[in-house]
Amino acid sequence: MEKILEAIAANAETKAFESLTIPNSYRGAVIRKDEAEMFVGIKSAEKDPRKSVHIGEVRTPEIAPDEALIAVMASSINFNTVWSSIFEPISTFGSLSRLARESELAKRHDLPYQVIGSDASGVVLRVGSTVRNWKPGDKVTVHCNHVDDQDPTSHNDSMLGSNQRIWGYETNFGGLAELSVVKANQLMPKPTHLSWEESAVNALCNSTSYRMLVSSNGAKMKQGDVVLIWGATGGLGAYATQYVLNGGGIPVGVVSSPEKAAILREMGCEAIIDRSAAGYKFWNDDNTHNESEWRRLGGDIRGLVGEDPDIVFEHPGRSTFGASMFVVKKGGTVTTCAATSGYMLEFDNRFFWMRLKKLVGSHFANYREAWEANRLIGKGMIQPALSQVFTLDNTGEAANQVHHNLHEGKIGVLCLAPGEGMGIDNPELRDKIGEKKISLFRRSSK
Ligand code: NDP
Repeated sequence: MEKILEAIAANAETKAFESLTIPNSYRGAVIRKDEAEMFVGIKSAEKDPRKSVHIGEVRTPEIAPDEALIAVMASSINFNTVWSSIFEPISTFGSLSRLARESELAKRHDLPYQVIGSDASGVVLRVGSTVRNWKPGDKVTVHCNHVDDQDPTSHNDSMLGSNQRIWGYETNFGGLAELSVVKANQLMPKPTHLSWEESAVNALCNSTSYRMLVSSNGAKMKQGDVVLIWGATGGLGAYATQYVLNGGGIPVGVVSSPEKAAILREMGCEAIIDRSAAGYKFWNDDNTHNESEWRRLGGDIRGLVGEDPDIVFEHPGRSTFGASMFVVKKGGTVTTCAATSGYMLEFDNRFFWMRLKKLVGSHFANYREAWEANRLIGKGMIQPALSQVFTLDNTGEAANQVHHNLHEGKIGVLCLAPGEGMGIDNPELRDKIGEKKISLFRRSSK
């Protein structure tokens, strides 16, 4: 790995990368198939990623003709890192065996361990024989949409592909590691003005928020739209808030502490609800909704912006979904990509049909959407939401922080990068955008 790092530090030519020896093994954050039952009978909140995520040496796989092997400089923790490490709602090892049935090379994925992680920034080391647009030495970020481009259902919108998967969650050889195997059509140029860790934290959450709000596959937000954003300084919300502000919308950001409210204010979001201070109780008990609390939330939103939201950016799921469907404006859209607090959702259909509302299910993003979202990062129009940086050795602890909502924005993980702040190739652009904007989340967490 030392030689690889030297070549990266020296901005070496393609030929120099081609002549490097690829190590037979590498370090990665892995979960183990024989531990998939380790948390059975334990409450979700008590399932501890620090117990299930191991840092181990794994064998370097060969690459398929349409793949690339990358040196991972940095990665990030996503909520799917939490899901895979607590084996909820299901163990991800089932996905690996299903993938293995698809082709000879896909069998590589079915191992007694899974290298997890669905974000990365790094450098291409090797490309397969059919890769045209990328070469060793290219600096990249990776989006996590893993699709079979020979499957007709993957065309038009690749998220509709019958065997679409999330890399590092439903595949092996993910990004929380020193090396990673990705499809060439997951690669995107690394933003030149950002460090490795700033570049690594965006793709998954940024692209998801872009599709949910901006894309014609999502809510198609337009100027002046009022958008209620749950978890507005969380992984998804930090980007959603920026999209609403950039697109001329009016964000109403929901957070759970004065510290998070202060971050929102600094981002330029004026309408803020602290859900902890408000103390909403949308459920009387496990089975009974509290409609008057939905009305109270609606009243609070009207109090702040004078009208109901055109769009609700929904992901907490069971705890908030009924309220989201209630408060959205007549004819408005609830866009959802998740259900952190529970996936069996309930809402009052009378308000839905009589008020002609729309519900859009959304999941990650296709290559085009991820590319557009990455382009905005590259231009400095969307900022990385990096708040903390951990080493690869501390991946379990970092995942535990996200599991318990102790973080803001995104947590970065240094993989091969020897320290923070490295990999910035365009300091002029960085100066132009301004450190204050780029490091907003990092400063707020210190
Ligand atoms: P984060 O934990 O970073 O942020 C989510 C935020 O939501 C929290 O910080 C919290 O903010 C708020 N929140 C959590 N629980 C509740 C609740 N019960 N009621 C109200 N607000 C709540 O996670 P991400 O934003 O990265 O991901 C959120 C969800 O989306 C996860 O389930 C994840 O798996 C999923 N996801 C799905 C994707 C897809 O492609 N389908 C892509 C990315 C994420 P606060 O406490 O400040 O209110």
